[in-house]
Amino acid sequence: MNAPLIDPFARAIRYLRVSVTDRCDFRCVYCMSENMTFLPKKELLTLEELDRMCSAFVRLGVEKLRITGGEPLVRRDIMTFFRSMSRHLDSGALKELTLTTNGSQLARFADDLYAAGVRRVNVSLDTLDEAKFARVTRWGRLPQVLRGIDAAQKAGLRVKLNAVALKDFNEDELFTLTSWCASRDIDLTFIEVMPMGDIGNEDRIGQYWSLKDLRSQLAQHYTVTDLPLSTGGPARYVQLEETGQKIGFITPLSHNFCESCNRVRITCTGEIYTCLGQEGHSDLRGPLRSSESDSVLEDAIRAAIALKPKGHDFDYSRQEVDGQVSRHMSHTGG
Ligand code: SAM
Ligand code: SF4
Repeated sequence: MNAPLIDPFARAIRYLRVSVTDRCDFRCVYCMSENMTFLPKKELLTLEELDRMCSAFVRLGVEKLRITGGEPLVRRDIMTFFRSMSRHLDSGALKELTLTTNGSQLARFADDLYAAGVRRVNVSLDTLDEAKFARVTRWGRLPQVLRGIDAAQKAGLRVKLNAVALKDFNEDELFTLTSWCASRDIDLTFIEVMPMGDIGNEDRIGQYWSLKDLRSQLAQHYTVTDLPLSTGGPARYVQLEETGQKIGFITPLSHNFCESCNRVRITCTGEIYTCLGQEGHSDLRGPLRSSESDSVLEDAIRAAIALKPKGHDFDYSRQEVDGQVSRHMSHTGG
């Protein structure tokens, strides 16, 4: 049995997020510029390499695997990868296989995902207004995503909606989104916008809507009760007493979750980022490609985990985008 992955701050690494592509069929304003240059195919890990990489992490104690991107469901043959990962669910080593998606391809893949052992899916959706949806995603169409969500629920997948809180954009939809989710038994989490990547002319500070403010707005209509801290992740949860709904808040700009951070990220080119908010990363593709045996890869993984920083440096407090990270969210997968 391999020694599990423990970082220098005694955190056991149990959660791996893997970006399987940098490409996407949307161009969300906070995530990408309209004219993106994507990586040449040879830079990407192949599906077989992704399998070897994820399987190594599972051997080293990772219990939860989240597939992301770019848009993971636009990667060619991605279902082959999901099906192959399901063997780790069957063996019991992996407790959860899940994904974050923009929902555009869910109508096609929901049943296959369920068959591969996926039980929950996070769908990113910031607005229920068709025109606003087209504006924020540039290339996305709302009805297609809504059909995807319907298909996911019909297939038996539990859906969680992730909405980026955007000032002067979806502030006025707080209650519409909340009650829409309640009526469909969909969990809802709000995410504070993060200063990631060069996204063209969008003004990030202008887009920032603090979740503290969002929470007080909720409290004007509902009785909002804090729920006890959950495991490892950046989300905090409250319950709306009137509806019984649980609402999550992801505030990556506050430092309140770094202490319990149990996750690392792999980009589609096989770089490992041990902190979303830091530039520090190591290459795992080289070690992976250098040897057919996985021992070189496992040594490289351990060496990278030994460099996991204590926390990150995002800071909006001085109304400048401090601690800004130059890579796009679609690179590390959010
Ligand atoms: N394409 C998939 C999707 O949209 O769900 C997966 C990848 S996307 C990069 C993952 C998550 O990151 C999405 O929920 C998206 O809203 C979020 N995201 C992207 N850019 C962000 C930013 N600058 N700040 C906060 N969240 C961001
Ligand atoms: Fe694509 Fe997701 Fe980024 Fe939107 S947030 S552009 S859907 S990767």
